[in-house]
Amino acid sequence: MTEADETLLLDLLNTTPVVDGTRQDLLSDAGAGRRWLTAHGQPSSEAEWRTALGVRAALQDIVRGDGTPASLAPFVEGVFSRASFGENGVAWTVELPKGRSAAARAVLAWDALRVSHPGRLRPCANPECRLFLIDHSKPNSARWCSMAVCGNRLKARRHYQRTRPARED
Ligand SMILES: [Zn+2]
Repeated sequence: MTEADETLLLDLLNTTPVVDGTRQDLLSDAGAGRRWLTAHGQPSSEAEWRTALGVRAALQDIVRGDGTPASLAPFVEGVFSRASFGENGVAWTVELPKGRSAAARAVLAWDALRVSHPGRLRPCANPECRLFLIDHSKPNSARWCSMAVCGNRLKARRHYQRTRPARED
């Protein structure tokens, strides 16, 4: 898995943010979806957009602990590795099916993370936030999609609750 694949996966998961209290979908129509795919170096047909929506829903459920990995099976159908002989040895190229290329790539990135960094892909700890993060910190202690946004907001709220006088009733 390349860094670009990991970025593709995380960015795809994060295409349904909450902005000013309202849930948004950055891939809400074919035009927006195709532009997003192009920006991520992916083929940008309408079929690609539709399967990206499907895999996004399945992956979001799984990472939130609501879904089963078996729901990802259709998205890797037809993926295979092709061997060729390079200068010094065998080189492998992953062939992705047409119309499901971005979706398959996201699943492969999810699986590579599952193996190499178990539990590091997770939802932001702010319950009002719909974003995800990949924790690359050594102590595995990252909890927020962004310290600047969610981390500080929750810290400020806790501080407010701590310093408010206790009610006596
Ligand atoms: Zn967040």
